[in-house]
Amino acid sequence: MELEERLNDVRSRIAAAERLGGRTDGSVQLVAVSKTFDADAIRPALQAGQRIFGENRVQEGQGKWPELKSETPGIELHLIGPLQSNKAAEAVALFDVIETVDREKIARVLADEMKRQAKTPRLYVQVNTGLEPQKAGITPNDTVAFVDFCRDELGLTIEGLMCIPPADENPGPHFALLGKLAQASGVEKLSMGMSGDYETAIAFGATSVRVGSAIFGVR
Ligand SMILES: *Cc1c(COP(=O)(O)O)cnc(C)c1O
Repeated sequence: MELEERLNDVRSRIAAAERLGGRTDGSVQLVAVSKTFDADAIRPALQAGQRIFGENRVQEGQGKWPELKSETPGIELHLIGPLQSNKAAEAVALFDVIETVDREKIARVLADEMKRQAKTPRLYVQVNTGLEPQKAGITPNDTVAFVDFCRDELGLTIEGLMCIPPADENPGPHFALLGKLAQASGVEKLSMGMSGDYETAIAFGATSVRVGSAIFGVR
């Protein structure tokens, strides 16, 4: 199957899941996760009209997206991988949305960089819903206080929450928990669902899904 066919398949599955869940048509955004794929592999997705992309490494993003952004207007690039303080300046410069804010230090550094560069990428807080030691993200218990801290102490607008459920568990309860935490924190957006579970995530209220291998193929 060609990339455009796979992309269209994902798009129609999203539309079907929206209808099934009583969601407004087009209310779920597709973030096409292009990590490990080079600019030549990404161009067919741009030709097929895809404009929202996700990368998990700042440096890898810097290697391909400045060129692709200059070729095609209207690209929205999401950082979906862990962010180190020493990469915050580059991240603010390149990304339109940073989905992985997860601790006070990185929130402070981002706030400083956003002022310095006069640039305001939209921000999500990553929540470690499965309390996995190897995974980034703030704990569910600390989420409301952390969103408050970002808003009240740093003046940052947190747009939504993001999670990556444990690979070996039923994702539904994790998606439900993220939804409850978003309500409790007063944020509207939910970034959840990947190739294996994005339709389930939509049923639980996802406003964006991050889909990689179902579009670009195996990594
Ligand atoms: C790689 C990745 C995805 C996409 O995963 P697929 O299973 O290939 O769809 C989504 N979210 C994050 C944070 C990722 O790192």
